[in-house]
Amino acid sequence: MKAFAYERPATVQDAARLAAERPGARFIAGGTNLLDLMKLQIETPATLIDVNRLPLAEVTDTDDGGLRIGALVRNSDLAAHPRVRKDYAVLGKALLAGASGQLRNKATTAGNLLQRTRCYYFYDTTKPCNKREPGSGCAAIGGFNRIMAVLGASDACIATNPSDMNVAMRVLDATVETVDPQGARRSIAMADFHRLPGDTPQIETDLKAGELITAVTLPKPVEGVHLYRKVRDRASYAFATVSVAAIIAKGEGDKPKLAKLAFGGLAHKPWRVAAAEAALVETGSADAASERVLDGARGQGSNDFKIPLTRRTLRATIAEALRA
Ligand SMILES: Cc1cc2nc3c(=O)[nH]c(=O)nc-3n(C[C@H](O)[C@H](O)[C@H](O)COP(=O)(O)OP(=O)(O)OC[C@H]3O[C@@H](n4cnc5c(N)ncnc54)[C@H](O)[C@@H]3O)c2cc1C
Repeated sequence: MKAFAYERPATVQDAARLAAERPGARFIAGGTNLLDLMKLQIETPATLIDVNRLPLAEVTDTDDGGLRIGALVRNSDLAAHPRVRKDYAVLGKALLAGASGQLRNKATTAGNLLQRTRCYYFYDTTKPCNKREPGSGCAAIGGFNRIMAVLGASDACIATNPSDMNVAMRVLDATVETVDPQGARRSIAMADFHRLPGDTPQIETDLKAGELITAVTLPKPVEGVHLYRKVRDRASYAFATVSVAAIIAKGEGDKPKLAKLAFGGLAHKPWRVAAAEAALVETGSADAASERVLDGARGQGSNDFKIPLTRRTLRATIAEALRA
């Protein structure tokens, strides 16, 4: 690990200001991703800005019946929160499907949003990676790409976003709240927060330099069965190969009256297609919905299986929701 300076600001504004003053600074929350990357010298921040003492660990009701989740709320606490369990069960289920109990006790809401890809070649500093070192190439293309993207990828990068929480946040239409070094506050829709790789895969989110995440807000709850189905290589302690976050409200017969669907493991960001949800409500057909989700899907060889696996995972999720 390379030497770094360490700061522990007392206010949100000081944290964002320090990030602007110290080129190459990084905020550190639970540290469960950042420290691993520092040990491998994939991230080499000159300054760590420890945000753990900032007053950002509260979960509060919003005036419009939604929920405001502070950036420092730990994944375990969020999954156990009574309102998450009652009104946003898809989020609790996604969180509990991630990592391990010990990691969830440290991992924070903002840190989970920003965790970096698990692409093998991003972690292997002997191999080219446009995300780690822009312009160096992508060893995953033509390499072993079992965990890589089948949607929204580019010639520069085929990495996926590894987070379970992000998929649930996407289906819940969450909004990310931030403050910048000048004190300006901003709300970013989850749909726009993560980026597709294009030719700048190193730019993963809409955040600007020094911008600090303060909270994530959820709109008022949507009624329906909340499910998170994660397909992975081991029953626990493994990232998703494919995952589906779903909120489905039963209608007449096999046709739901409401369907919200987001997918993990397929792309550089949580994947959501409005036309797929509309197709499911109109026809009740899981396959019609899958067709819209997978429009443009392309495997890289060893990850071709993700395409039929997504179809089957969606079919099983919808069947479970309609049985509930
Ligand atoms: C063995 C292992 C297995 C795992 N399995 C899973 C899994 O199955 N599913 C899953 O979803 N995750 C999994 N994870 C990932 C884990 O969920 C993340 O490491 C964790 O959520 C990151 O949160 P953190 O608070 O520790 O972030 P940190 O490591 O502290 O930070 C991560 C990034 O967020 C930035 N950051 C933190 N807070 C802020 C803020 N307030 N504003 C702006 N930037 C900020 C940091 O600068 C850094 O870039 C696993 C991790 C490990 C080590």
